[in-house]
Amino acid sequence: MPQKTKKTPMMEQYLAVKKQYPDAFLFYRLGDFYEMFYDDAVKGAQILELTLTTRNKNAVDPIPMCGVPHHAAQNYIDILVDKGYKVAICEQVEDPKTAKGMVKREVVQLVTPGTIIDQNAGDAKENNYLTALLEADDGYGLAYADLSTGEIKVATLKNEEALLNELMSLQTKEIVLAPEISPQLNELLAKLKILTSIQANAEITAETSYVTQDLASKLEQRTVQNLLTYLQTTQKRSLAHLQKALHYEPSHYLKLDHNAQRNLELLQNLRTNKKSGTLLWLLDSTKTAMGGRMLKQWITRPLIDLKQIEQRQKIVADLLENYFERSGIIEQLTQVYDLERLAGRVAFGSVNGRDLVQLKTSLEHIPQIRYLLEQLDNTIYQEFLADLDPVEDVADLIEQAIVDEPPLSITEGNLIREGYNAQLDEYTNAMKNGKQWLAQLEAQEREITGISNLKIGFNRVFGYYIEVSKANAKKLPQDRYQRKQTLTNAERFITPELKQKEELILGAETKAYELEYQLFTEIREQIKDQIKRLQKLAAKIAELDVLQAFATVSEENHFVCPVLSNTKRELNIVAGWHPVVEKVLGKQSYIPNDVKMDADLDVLLITGPNMSGKSTYMRQLALSVIMAQMGCFVPAESAEMPIFDQIFTRIGAADDLISGESTFMVEMKEANQALKNATPNSLLLFDELGRGTATYDGMALAQAIIEFVHDQIHAKTLFSTHYHELTVLAEKLPKLANIHVGAVEKDGELVFLHKMQSGPADKSYGVHVAKLAGMPEMLLERAATILAHLEGADKATEVLAPDEPKVEPELPQTEEAQLSLFEPEEQLPEKLSGEKQRVLSELTEAN
Ligand code: ADP
Repeated sequence: MPQKTKKTPMMEQYLAVKKQYPDAFLFYRLGDFYEMFYDDAVKGAQILELTLTTRNKNAVDPIPMCGVPHHAAQNYIDILVDKGYKVAICEQVEDPKTAKGMVKREVVQLVTPGTIIDQNAGDAKENNYLTALLEADDGYGLAYADLSTGEIKVATLKNEEALLNELMSLQTKEIVLAPEISPQLNELLAKLKILTSIQANAEITAETSYVTQDLASKLEQRTVQNLLTYLQTTQKRSLAHLQKALHYEPSHYLKLDHNAQRNLELLQNLRTNKKSGTLLWLLDSTKTAMGGRMLKQWITRPLIDLKQIEQRQKIVADLLENYFERSGIIEQLTQVYDLERLAGRVAFGSVNGRDLVQLKTSLEHIPQIRYLLEQLDNTIYQEFLADLDPVEDVADLIEQAIVDEPPLSITEGNLIREGYNAQLDEYTNAMKNGKQWLAQLEAQEREITGISNLKIGFNRVFGYYIEVSKANAKKLPQDRYQRKQTLTNAERFITPELKQKEELILGAETKAYELEYQLFTEIREQIKDQIKRLQKLAAKIAELDVLQAFATVSEENHFVCPVLSNTKRELNIVAGWHPVVEKVLGKQSYIPNDVKMDADLDVLLITGPNMSGKSTYMRQLALSVIMAQMGCFVPAESAEMPIFDQIFTRIGAADDLISGESTFMVEMKEANQALKNATPNSLLLFDELGRGTATYDGMALAQAIIEFVHDQIHAKTLFSTHYHELTVLAEKLPKLANIHVGAVEKDGELVFLHKMQSGPADKSYGVHVAKLAGMPEMLLERAATILAHLEGADKATEVLAPDEPKVEPELPQTEEAQLSLFEPEEQLPEKLSGEKQRVLSELTEAN
């Protein structure tokens, strides 16, 4: 009968380690494998499709186990981390040959979703963020880091809304929290479904104490410290490449809340969640991974400072004009590798010979880039020229030390260039010249002894030997020759000189490998001291890359440099287009449109049939604003615009990722966000607001919102609607104008012109759309009749004059009108009322 087994010392060690990492898969190194046990094994085997076996098969409590070979471990770790798990890597930390008793094992790294650094090449243009959060009485500290590049940013966010927005737009992979987190924050984060980790605050090491050096706010300091502590406890190695934490003010950028980013398809296509069809896709003509990452950051953080924007514009214009220099710069940039991540690998100690060659090659292109910039207008590129440090010492060091085509491994030699180290050259010589030496020695011994068939041979048992025939053996000088083996016809000897050579030859390889490794680590440490310079260079290269991308894309697409103002409230875009839709449709098929809003015009009410281009028109404006404030040119013939502080959108299908609320609720919440936070300098886009509820209900809300925006907020607003009735608002609201999308009927069919025209659309197109959809003729005729009837009896649906709600309610006219909006049944014959409602809502849906 099987017995409950006593734990072996190894399993005891395993359990002791596992206890420290309860929420991670523990990869426990056993020989050439990483093993998982117990629940880790059961779950791991399932996720990684491994064979589940057991230890102690015959015991009552066999231990489930599965394992992966250590050389293939990275793949398995990636899969687990990609799925949002953590993996603790437990290694043998002493040599099994010299260890007394159990080999000591320790977790050498905790790999987590927020801290992965070795990413696939395909992700090079992505940042992988880890975020730390701390709560305070007056807000939240939020710090995020990309461990692979060393970038750290920190901000103080006023409220939950701001916090949520920032977390969503960062697409952070993991959140680090303090143990004393409040239930409210816990609940909020639970909805986001992002992995959270708890980190108690601890001392940060001296190595990274500079990181918080420039931070004024205590809260931000503590937040970054928590982030650092987490990085230290998980990585357990040098973090010297971390950059100083940079404080940022979300209010120093054009604020684009998470909805706006999604709806405007800045980084992600709404349908596919991919890059294709987004603003990023359109603009990404960057040549370096660093540039790609910076472009993404710029898209989500356009500027609001006129000077800064104009500085970028100047460079874009200059690069655009100077085709020759720009092409030269592009050609150079193409050959610059990911300096930021290379620097990260140097600090981590995970850099190999090929990485260093990439680093050198990249640095070698910097002087040429400098030269090209010097040919251009010097006043614009001063900052670039000051910061584009070619870090020549590092390039030279690598050039001198590392061969041109080193192997991946850093422990198997062939890394270090000849002439770099005399000792190493001797070893290499010994390896190469061993044969030659032996031949020389053979000739020399033949001469000394006069034995012409004396020869040198090798066997595994005692290495190199000198062999002579039995007869000749006597002729050998006794003092030097020592007999080792007697064969039938021959005798084998060794001499001190032969053994000396042997040691050189056989030892040379091992010694060479060891010395190469040692030299390599020394070089790596030397480069590590220059990491900050490399990072500074990387940042400038990234910037130049993004600006050349702006110039290139602006040239290809015939964008124009917008004239921006932080004082004038005029918007005048002539013949603008939606850059992505145009790219997809082709230049010929796209109808350009103007956007004209003078200083005293705040609201454009856009009417027009479904599919006529209202939403595209609004998005086109938003994208142009974003592009302009990034410093890029814009899709138009000419453009003048104010600098906006925020963009709010209520566009498109509302899907609430966070709470799964009803569509209409989400619609109202998004609208509310805008109404609560918008300033006169904001841009508001409302697409078909109110369509998520009953007709009158929606229309009433739409009108009230327009009035509120017009009277209270004064922000530039585009409001598209199918409530044709709202167009009369223009008579009462001085800062509102109607525009509509033209459509013509041709042979009874409807043709959209996609052209914005002033004034309201003159009738509802629902019936025509229904016709286009192929509805039965009979039904269409009936609808036309009902429509005519309703238009005749339209008194009841007329909108409430805007000023009237402020009037005392007992005024009879107002009361009647109010009733007519909210309780139409009381005003109309029952049958008509029901029918009217139905038809109206049908038309609405068709629209
Ligand atoms: P709406 O919001 O009025 O329902 P959309 O803006 O969604 O209409 O536009 C519908 C389609 O019409 C778009 O997918 C696009 O292909 C096309 N479209 C929109 N605007 C234009 C334009 N200015 N020129 C050419 N095609 C356009």
